[in-house]
Amino acid sequence: MKKKIVILGSTSSIGKSLLRIVEKDKKNFKIELLTANTNYKDLITQAKKFNVKNIIITDLKSFKKTKLIIKNKRINIFQNFDDLEKILPKKVDYVMSAISGISGLLPTFKIINRTKLIAIANKEAIVCGWPIIDKELKKNKTKFIPVDSEHFSIFSLLDNKSTNKIEKIYITASGGPFINLPKSHFGKIKLNDALKHPNWSMGKKITIDSATLMNKVFEVIEAKNIFNINYKNISILTHPKSYVHAIIKFKNGLTKFLIHEPDMKIPIYNSIYYQTNKSFKNSPLNFTTLNNLNLKKVEENKFPLVRLINKLPKNSSLFETVLITINDYLVYKFLEKRINFQKLIKLILKISNLKEFQKFKKIKPKNLKEIYNLRDYVHLKLETLGI
Ligand code: NDP
Ligand code: MG
Repeated sequence: MKKKIVILGSTSSIGKSLLRIVEKDKKNFKIELLTANTNYKDLITQAKKFNVKNIIITDLKSFKKTKLIIKNKRINIFQNFDDLEKILPKKVDYVMSAISGISGLLPTFKIINRTKLIAIANKEAIVCGWPIIDKELKKNKTKFIPVDSEHFSIFSLLDNKSTNKIEKIYITASGGPFINLPKSHFGKIKLNDALKHPNWSMGKKITIDSATLMNKVFEVIEAKNIFNINYKNISILTHPKSYVHAIIKFKNGLTKFLIHEPDMKIPIYNSIYYQTNKSFKNSPLNFTTLNNLNLKKVEENKFPLVRLINKLPKNSSLFETVLITINDYLVYKFLEKRINFQKLIKLILKISNLKEFQKFKKIKPKNLKEIYNLRDYVHLKLETLGI
C-alpha cells in the first residue's frame, strides 16, 4: 500500500529535499497535500508533477493567482488550514512540518490529529509551543520525529531509551562562515558573507541564525523540550566540518557519537523511512574528517548570543516566543540591509533584556492564541522602538 503523506512548506529547502526522495520512490507514496505561502509557481509545479489533489497557499494574492492559473478541477486550492478534516478525512501516514518561523506552529498543531507520524523541522514550533504540541501528540498518539539534524541524532542515539541515563548532551555547531574571522573584522561583514554557509544549504533565515549562532540557542531550547533535559546538561561544541551532530555521554561510562555527512537529506530520509529496511545510498566514512574533528567550546566573546541560554527559565515559558520574535524581526531587517551584522547581535541582546519582557519567563504557554498575541505585541513594540 502506498504511504500517504503531507508536506507543510513543500517549497522550503527541507520540503524540496523530501520531494527529491519521494520522486525516486514514487510508486510507494501518495502525496495528499502540499502547502506554501507565496511561491505559487513552485507549488503548482510540484502539485502537477506529483499528482497532488490538495494544495494550500496562504498569501492572499498568491492564492488568487493560483486560482486563476489552475483550471484543473481535480486540484482543490485552499487558503488556510481550517479544512484539514475535509482534506484529510482519514489519518495520513506521514507529515513533514517544514514551514519556517512561528507561522508554522498553528498548521503543525492542527495537523497532529490527522496523521500517524509527524516529522517536525519547524524549530520555532518546538521552541515556542512545545507544551501544547507535546500534549496534542500524546492525546492523539501521534509518533514524533525531530528533523533538525542534532535532534534527529539525539533521537537516533537514544533509540527510545530513557533520558534518565544521560549525563550530558553535546550538540555541535559548525560555527558558520565567521568561525575563523577575528572579532575585530565583524564590522565589515556583508549580507552575502553571512549567507554563505560553509557546510549546509538552507533557507536564508536559518542561514543567518547559523552565522550569529542564535540557531544554537534555539537548538538548545529544542533539545531541552524534546528530551526533557535540564539546560545544565546540554552543551554546545563548535565543530567546523559538521560531521558529528550530537554526542551523548551516558551515566554508565559510555559515550556515543552520531556522525553523518552534513546533508539534511539524511535525517529527512530516515524520518520518512522510519522503521523500514530501506537503504540509503551511502558515502564511505570520511577518516580525514574523523581524525580531525576539532571540537571546541564556543568563543562566547565572539558569539555572545549563546550567553542567552544562561538566562533562560528552567521550564518552557512565553519568553521563548519573545526571543524568537525579536530574532525573526531583526534577522529580516538584516536581510533587508537595514542593520549590519554587529547591530543585529547587539539589538537581539539589548531588546531581549528589556524589563517588560522578563515577566514572560514565568508564564507557561497555554494555547496558541496566547503565543500569537504575544508575537504581535513584541512586533508592535519593536516597531515603536523605530527599528
Ligand atoms: P525555507 O526558508 O527554505 O522555506 C520556508 C517555507 O515555509 C516555504 O515553504 C514557505 O513558503 C513557507 N512559509 C513561510 N512563511 C509562511 C507563512 N506565513 N505561512 C505558511 N507558509 C509559510 O525554510 P527551510 O527549509 O530553511 O526551513 C524550514 C524549517 O525547518 C525552519 O523552521 C527551519 O528552522 C527548520 N530547519 C531547516 C533546516 C535546513 O537545512 N533548511 C535544518 C534544520 C531545521 P513560500 O516558499 O511560499 O515562501
Ligand atoms: Mg540544526
